[in-house]
Amino acid sequence: MILNEIIENILSASNIILVTHISPDGDAIGCTIAMYKALKLLKKDVKIFIDDDIPDVYKFLPNSDKIERPYDKNADIIVVIDCADKDRIGNAQELLKKDIISVNIDHHISNTLYADINYVDTNAASAAEIIYQIIKLLGINFDSDISTCLYTAIVTDTGGFMYNSTTAFTHEVAADLINNGAPVSYISDKIFHNITYNKIKLIGRALDSLKLYKNGKIACLEITKKDLDETNSKVSDIENIVNYGRDINGVEVAILLVEKDDEIKVSLRSKEKVDVNKIAQIFGGGGHIRASGCSLKNSLEEAKIQILNKIKDIINEG
Ligand code: 5GP
Ligand code: MN
Repeated sequence: MILNEIIENILSASNIILVTHISPDGDAIGCTIAMYKALKLLKKDVKIFIDDDIPDVYKFLPNSDKIERPYDKNADIIVVIDCADKDRIGNAQELLKKDIISVNIDHHISNTLYADINYVDTNAASAAEIIYQIIKLLGINFDSDISTCLYTAIVTDTGGFMYNSTTAFTHEVAADLINNGAPVSYISDKIFHNITYNKIKLIGRALDSLKLYKNGKIACLEITKKDLDETNSKVSDIENIVNYGRDINGVEVAILLVEKDDEIKVSLRSKEKVDVNKIAQIFGGGGHIRASGCSLKNSLEEAKIQILNKIKDIINEG
């Protein structure tokens, strides 16, 4: 069994590097620092590399201060968590070329199985459900740090247990984490009831740009560089803004286009009908059926036309 192979490799390693995807979200951050704490309890030498900014809302998580930007370092094993493909690891992908055993633990349907050992469970609502099982198999007792990080990962990746990826097992894991010290309302307050004034202003800019297409089936939101600058925001502040489009009644697909330095970052969300992973993959991205993303090297206007046309075609076919 692949999980057992992963456990054996982790147990026999001394130096371990943990990495996750750029634009890290609650699942990415929660899982890597939960694993960090678990491996520290096993007296391992552990490093966490994330090649991007960490959104401020996750900085309350225990051990989030241990996250570093990637650099060249030797290790016995590199464990990549919640990351569908190599490019999403950013500069840390250099480590995959070295003579280090690589392990890929993920739940994305678009995963490209890029490591020496790959464990991809697309039925898991979050990577945290898999990390929970691994920490159990490692024989570690869940403390409040680990429980807080994994609960945060689950509650964010399931949209507060509302997405259709949520299962009875998701709730069983969450219940066990609460029993082991995850403080539910504290975590909710830190993540969901803790929006900065700047982020509200940024949301205002995005909502101002909102347009509907295809008889209200497609919602499109835009954030320009100017919006980011004038609201003192970073690209890492855009998390969840696309949901405003998705939540409009009648909307089947929501698009958020964000102007980055040399590319347009696209977030896609859908309700029941459209597989947005397929759309993102057409443009070299990926993700899940109901939540995906990609980046286009175009102007914002050109990227918008290309994405909109693809979605219109798919809605016409369906
Ligand atoms: P978000 O829109 O929140 O950035 O991402 C939604 C989902 O799509 C996440 O699971 C994320 O990992 C995935 N995703 C976003 N952008 C990309 C991308 O450029 N490439 C791939 N492969 N996945 C992406
Ligand atoms: Mn995830």
